[in-house]
Amino acid sequence: MNQISRRGLCLVLSAPSGAGKSSVSRALLEREPDLRLSVSATTRQPRPGEVEGVHYFFREREEFQRMIAAGELIEHAEVFGRFYGTPRMAVEQALAAGRDVLFDIDWQGHLLLRQALPGDVVGVFLLPPSLQELERRLHGRGQDSAEEIARRMAAAQDEISHYGDFDNVLVNHDFHRTVEEVRAILHAGRTARRRQPWLPEFVSGLLGA
Ligand code: 5GP
Repeated sequence: MNQISRRGLCLVLSAPSGAGKSSVSRALLEREPDLRLSVSATTRQPRPGEVEGVHYFFREREEFQRMIAAGELIEHAEVFGRFYGTPRMAVEQALAAGRDVLFDIDWQGHLLLRQALPGDVVGVFLLPPSLQELERRLHGRGQDSAEEIARRMAAAQDEISHYGDFDNVLVNHDFHRTVEEVRAILHAGRTARRRQPWLPEFVSGLLGA
């Protein structure tokens, strides 16, 4: 009964920008060796320090359209006027090999992923403690222009209104506590019956049938 006979799960972490999602994702990946990040494709420009193939696959619009048409993306959505999407191959291979995949995608991506991979998705939505705190964090990041921040604040309120689509919702009061709570959700998801297809045989053995 080794780990490989377990099907991997999709841990989706969604939040409005500035709620602390990136830091939580980073901490999860450091602490959970069996968890891999799904690297999305996007048509937006790289921010300073972002690396091709690590943070995103940065693509031109035409190439992104080609990937959609070729079925290379499990889901895609338009966010802030740019396209974002999840490459299919890496995710399907990881799940089949019993590895879990972390997704930093928005509420639309979460719904589409749930449709594409029914039963494989565990959704977590992170709420900021307040809108003031959210704005403070967006400014503190120092990566976006004032115009971009205003746009993200408006989008954040829309994003927050979709919290009800998620099975798990956390208010990010305390970074370390949030990370531990998401880890607990991941660990609980791993023991779901459908992720352990070897169970019927094991139980037959247990019962000596
Ligand atoms: P950012 O531009 O700040 O990296 O991301 C903007 C938004 O796009 C975030 O809410 C992020 O979660 C979302 N996003 C990133 N990658 C994907 C993806 O592959 N699919 C979807 N649906 N949303 C994504």
